[in-house]
Parts: sequence; C-alpha cells; structure tokens
Amino acid sequence: MRYSGWQVLRQGLAGNRGWRPAWREAAPKPAYDTVIIGGGGHGLSTAYYLARNHGITDVAVVEKGGIGLGNVGRNTTIIRANYILPGNSEFYSHSLKLWEGLERELNYNAMVSQRGLVNLFHSDGQRDAFARRGNAMINQGDDAVLLDREGVRRLLPYLDFEQGRFPILGGLLHPRGGTARHDAVAWGYARAADARGVDLIQNAEVTGIDISAGRVTGVQTTRGAIRARRVAIVVAGRSSQVAAMAGLRLPVESHILQAFVTEGLKPVIDHVVSFGMGHFYISQSDKGGLVFGGDIDFYASYAARGNLPMAEHVMEAAMTLMPMIGRAKVLRSWGGIMDMTPDGSPVIDRTPVEGLYLNCGWNYGGFKAVPASGWCLAHLMATGQPHPVAARYRLDRFLTGRGLMDEEGTGSQHNLH
Ligand SMILES: Cc1cc2nc3c(=O)[nH]c(=O)nc-3n(C[C@H](O)[C@H](O)[C@H](O)COP(=O)(O)OP(=O)(O)OC[C@H]3O[C@@H](n4cnc5c(N)ncnc54)[C@H](O)[C@@H]3O)c2cc1C
Repeated sequence: MRYSGWQVLRQGLAGNRGWRPAWREAAPKPAYDTVIIGGGGHGLSTAYYLARNHGITDVAVVEKGGIGLGNVGRNTTIIRANYILPGNSEFYSHSLKLWEGLERELNYNAMVSQRGLVNLFHSDGQRDAFARRGNAMINQGDDAVLLDREGVRRLLPYLDFEQGRFPILGGLLHPRGGTARHDAVAWGYARAADARGVDLIQNAEVTGIDISAGRVTGVQTTRGAIRARRVAIVVAGRSSQVAAMAGLRLPVESHILQAFVTEGLKPVIDHVVSFGMGHFYISQSDKGGLVFGGDIDFYASYAARGNLPMAEHVMEAAMTLMPMIGRAKVLRSWGGIMDMTPDGSPVIDRTPVEGLYLNCGWNYGGFKAVPASGWCLAHLMATGQPHPVAARYRLDRFLTGRGLMDEEGTGSQHNLH
C-alpha cells in the first residue's frame, strides 16, 4: 500500500477502514540465509539495504520485544554530519545524504527536519576548535558557518548572553543538521523491509548463538531454533551480552543516557542547540515539547532508567543557557542503554566466528547513523568487503590501539564519551 495525500483523503472519506497493517506478523521459519539479531534502527536498516541494494531477501530480523521500543524510539532525534576525524567524517556525511532522501525512499513520513544545528562556544580556544571542525566539515562536502556572538543572537535571541560565567562568544551552525521523528524511522524501515520480503519476528529473544567448527550455523530463540548462514549482532546496549553467547568479549560498557520532554509549548526553539560548557542539547518537537538531554549516567548499568544527579546536572545546564526554560514543566523523562566504546566510535565488522557480524558501539550518537550503518553492514555482509566509508570501524583497533577514532579527545575511557 503506497502512502500519499490522496490515500489519506480516500481512506478518510471511507471511515479509515481500508488501511492495511504496515508489516506482516511473521512467524519464524526453521532456516534463513541471514538472521539479524535486534529490530532497532540499525537492524532494520541493515535488513532493508540487504534486500534493496543486494537482492538478499531471505532475511529474518529477530527482536526480543517490539519494533521501535529500544533506543531507536528513545533518543533525542538529532541528526547531523559535523564530525572531524577521518573515518567518522565520511561515514556521517554519507548518512546525512541518505537522510535527505529517506522519506521518498521509504514512502514514509519520518518528519526529517533540517532546521539547523548550532554548537555554541564560550572561549577563544573553543572558537578555534569549532573553526577547525567547520573547515573539516566543508572539506568533507558538508556545510558549516562560523557565527559570532551577534550572529547567534539573531538566530537564538532567547539565550542568556549576559551571564558572566559562560559567555556565549559564538557558535558553529550546521544548516543541514536537524531532527527526525525517531520511531517513525523504525516503522518506515520495518515497513519497507517487510515489503521486500524480510520477516520481522517480534517477541523472540535470542538466547544462544550456534557455532560449529568456527562457523555460525544459527541462533536459539524463545520461539525456537533458527538456522542461518549469516548472523549479525545489532543489539545496541545489549551488545556485550549477546556477543558473549558466541564467546566474544567486547570493548563495550553499557551506560544509561536520559532524555527529558516538557509540556507542549508554542514554537520557541526552531533549531537544535548545544551548550559548549556542559553536555546539554535541546530542540522542540512538532508537538511543542522541548526535548533535551545531557551526558550519560557515569556508571555501567542495564537498568534503562537514570538517576537524579544527572537529571539535576542537565536542568542546571538548561537554566544556565536559557533561564526561560525554568517556566516550563517537565512532562516525562526516560533512559536508554548506550553501548559505549573506548574511543567513542562504532564497530561494523566481521567477528572471529565465520559468518558472524557485529554492529555496535554507537555510544550516544547512533540515531543519526541509522541509514549509513545499515547500508554499510549490508555491504559488508553481501560483498565480504567493508564499505569505504565504514572501513575504519574495525573491531581489532581496540586490540592493536592503531586506528582509534577519539572524536572528542577524551582519551580511551568509556565513561568520558
Ligand atoms: C536518551 C537518548 C538520547 C539519544 N539521543 C540521540 C540523538 O539525539 N542523536 C543520535 O544520533 N543518537 C542518539 N541516541 C543514541 C541512539 O538512540 C542509539 O545509538 C541507537 O538508537 C542504537 O541503535 P538501535 O536503534 O539499533 O538500538 P535499539 O533500538 O536499542 O535496537 C536494539 C534492539 O536489539 C534488541 N535486542 C537486544 N537483545 C536482544 C536479544 N537477545 N534478542 C533479540 N533482540 C534483542 C532490543 O530489544 C532492541 O530493540 C540517544 C539515545 C538515548 C537513549
């Protein structure tokens, strides 16, 4: 069923009784060519691009819960291509280009909104660092504009420019950055993958990975065993646990990241804004809620809910930057489990087990990566070769120390990324 304005009109006039489910409720078959563990953004986009780019449709996505209930539906929805390091720069650039055509590609309204992202700076040193980052972005073919204080004031007049402790000296504007509706991205990929023949198997937890003579042969699930020639682990915060089923120990720690949403307000923030003197970023959803977040909770956990010290830290940063936010009421907050790597960059690679692939380590920035991550993992699985824009996302960089991509320059410590 194609979605269109005409279809909305037609169904509306017919009492909305003609809509069909967006995807089939598939039951697991005994065997597939390829099994993808995890029905989050990355697992679904991998399945879609396996079918779309490589004609591989004998694929099952095995999801322990429901589609879109993991981090793909819990994030603060920011998409951007403002990375500086070779390796990350070309990958996120590729991803943003895919975002720009995504809704047409999937025939699904993912509410992609390139409203512009402003990273504020508060010292001369930070200005230099952002000028360098902006140049790297332009060299990569993306866009960046260095704004002075008055330039920022024209765009974001509600910020507190007068406060003495962290004066706003300017910002780096990334006009093509913005937001997308997170769960719609999962639904759009799910629907498009299903339409190409992929089975989406929900409520099936993978409990074991079958290996024979160093080669993967399938998975055990709570809905029975499934044989497969290729298996990909794409489970975000649960990566260490699922990889352990194959005897692998990953360089990943799982930490909680929280997000907060206020009551709906009239339009006030029309960009994505990030504070330069603390980990804080904010945008306004189309429903009017101010959506914001900060840093991870600094302890490893699988609890999927955060604690008050980080909530307080985030609120303090918000009040410092835009005191008017103190008038808004926080409606909801939640947490998601982040798969943090030592250098803050991800892994898209084979594993030592033949036929077993790994996609993990997205830290707190994997939503924007969803299109390119699926594109590149599908490429690796189908051709046996890493995609050029993801060639540096090797698992063995943590063993050798060579090729680490410490984007934030915080050193090789999980909880500093
Ligand atoms: C609060 C918050 C804010 C964020 N903000 C941003 C942002 O603004 N921009 C950005 O780019 N990124 C952001 N992120 C990060 C981003 O959401 C994640 O990096 C990304 O969603 C992770 O990939 P995924 O979508 O595949 O994960 P998920 O949706 O978590 O998918 C993994 C799936 O694997 C399933 N699974 C796990 N174990 C098993 C098993 N044994 N068997 C079967 N299935 C299993 C899970 O149920 C889950 O559905 C944020 C994250 C959070 C929590």
